[in-house]
Amino acid sequence: MTEPLVSPDLLSIMQCPACTGELSERADPPALVCADCGRAYPVREGIPVMLIEEAEETDSRQRTADS
Ligand SMILES: [Zn+2]
Repeated sequence: MTEPLVSPDLLSIMQCPACTGELSERADPPALVCADCGRAYPVREGIPVMLIEEAEETDSRQRTADS
């Protein structure tokens, strides 16, 4: 059982500050990951840090669930 990092209502109105793409949650380490550009925005103590310079660049957009 996992708790949401941020409320679903909040998540639904948030978008990637770099490309305005949709964000999805990542549990470990906690972050919001952009589906379009692959940037991961860290969530610190329940607060998403939506700063491009704080984002970690990932290749999640290329990855599939079953890889
Ligand atoms: Zn993005």
